[in-house]
Amino acid sequence: MRIKMMEINLKLLEKQRAHPVHVQGEVELPDVPREVPEVDALSPVTSDLVAEWEEDVCHLHGDLRAVVTYQCSRCLEPFDAQLVAPFEEAFTENAAKADGEDIHHSSDGTVLLDPYIEQAVHLALDNRPLCDEACKGLCPVCGRNRNVEPCQCDTRRIDPRLEALRDLLSSPHSE
Ligand SMILES: [Zn+2]
Ligand SMILES: [Zn+2]
Repeated sequence: MRIKMMEINLKLLEKQRAHPVHVQGEVELPDVPREVPEVDALSPVTSDLVAEWEEDVCHLHGDLRAVVTYQCSRCLEPFDAQLVAPFEEAFTENAAKADGEDIHHSSDGTVLLDPYIEQAVHLALDNRPLCDEACKGLCPVCGRNRNVEPCQCDTRRIDPRLEALRDLLSSPHSE
């Protein structure tokens, strides 16, 4: 299976520079679920961008959309969430205009957008995803998913700092 990629050609886009041109496409970013522990899977990312020119610099901006399968950071269960990431980059064939940060240089007029899309997706990812704001998480004692099955464990004993404090408080009257 070929991985979907997204490439633009500045020369072709410039021919239509009189009007904003829509640039649409889909890319697959298999490295994202590999590199981000909270991400189990990522659907192909669809891009709906507009190309607008300012002298010889092409500004590409719009939205990226995908479905992310996160692993909940409390209960570790997978859940799907819509990702909408803003995209804004500029490209030019004029090396004098490029600054390597906001305006990128392309010597032959072609630009593979995938690395820029990947960067924008990384920035939009939730680094502490929750299946639900009210997720009760896993019991630290018995490991049960407390959303599914409540347990009777005494989790007050778990925090070692609290444990030390409790020992301290109770030591004068040791049982
Ligand atoms: Zn959860
Ligand atoms: Zn428990």
